[in-house]
Amino acid sequence: MVKQCWILPSVSHPEDLAIVSGKAKELQLIGREAKMNSKKLIRSLESNGYSVTYFERKASAVDYLNNEIDQKTVGFGDSGTLVEMKLFEILGEHNSVVDPQHCGENESFLEVAKKCLATEVFLTSVNAVSETGELVNIDGTGNRIAGSLFGHKKVYFVIGVNKLTATLEDAIWRAKNIAAPLNARRLGIRTPCAHKGNRCYDCSSPERICNGLMIYYKKMSNIEVEVILVDEALGL
Ligand code: SF4
Repeated sequence: MVKQCWILPSVSHPEDLAIVSGKAKELQLIGREAKMNSKKLIRSLESNGYSVTYFERKASAVDYLNNEIDQKTVGFGDSGTLVEMKLFEILGEHNSVVDPQHCGENESFLEVAKKCLATEVFLTSVNAVSETGELVNIDGTGNRIAGSLFGHKKVYFVIGVNKLTATLEDAIWRAKNIAAPLNARRLGIRTPCAHKGNRCYDCSSPERICNGLMIYYKKMSNIEVEVILVDEALGL
């Protein structure tokens, strides 16, 4: 039996959460118009060393991953995107899957997160991707960033269109001011961003979830990395 040890009240997407700054609206607009820019994004990511597979629909991306990943040990970097795609359940039918968002009866988040670092395949998402081909993630515990960098045979980044920004600067801004506050609110932690929900306050809260910021300028050496782009909003 598994329990969801990390997911708290769910939220859908930024537009549902009254994030009202002009910058946020601008970035949401870029996300919605990303279909027009997907060719540029794919070119940028490929020139940064990634293999890229693009899907118009989430269901097609799920089918693809379900065919690609078979009889493997699979770790997840806890991600709302993967939860929305139900990949824990689907891949779990023919793989050995560990996910910090689905802990066993007597397992803690940290125990499961450590197991995820020693699998053949690792799946996660990012907080933002720029049209110029950089990926950005903010992490509190470090399991998501650590798992995405080293030690696996293959890493998949699964990214919905809502994460797309024009520049690296915008991607960092989105990670800090949209993704992190939404995550804080989802987790129900005591931070000013979770309370107000509109931006990062660079807090000193003991429950702060922004302890490291990772910019993936290019694919890490000696590891296979595939970016799965989905032209639907996924995750935060
Ligand atoms: S640094 Fe603090 S206020 Fe800013 S997004 Fe992270 S948790 Fe929220």
